[in-house]
Amino acid sequence: MSFATAPIFDQLELSEINRTIILDIDGTLVPDGEEDCSEKTRAKVMNLMKNNNVVLFSNSKNTERGKKMANALGISFLSADKNKPNPAVIMATGRRVGDCTVIGDKFLTDYLLAVFSGARFVPVRRIYSGRESFKIKIIYLVDDFFNFLSRLVGIG
Ligand SMILES: [Mg+2]
Repeated sequence: MSFATAPIFDQLELSEINRTIILDIDGTLVPDGEEDCSEKTRAKVMNLMKNNNVVLFSNSKNTERGKKMANALGISFLSADKNKPNPAVIMATGRRVGDCTVIGDKFLTDYLLAVFSGARFVPVRRIYSGRESFKIKIIYLVDDFFNFLSRLVGIG
């Protein structure tokens, strides 16, 4: 499973029906820390909403931004006591894990959430603003390295 060769979110071709989709924010819908989705991204979310229950979830401490974004998109913001990749995030949807799909740009959070809980996973290629902080760049580097390692040993 490679994030590098996956499409970015607004170019995903999905045929998900009647599922709960746990949608990541940073790097997936918007570049890290931003809050305004592009028109294409908004349209893709609307498209997913036709046949699915779409919820936003982020490990970011800034839950106000997440709630605001969810509001603007007309979907709900999932609150959970734990962070990704803890399967408690999936439990918080109230849906059976077999009915859940996780969409995201990170190996250590999004992908492992799906692996640990047994949900379906759809990788997206990360989107960048070019203004990412040093801390975020390091986090991305570490994440990409683990994704690389997992592919090397054939578990990703
Ligand atoms: Mg992300």
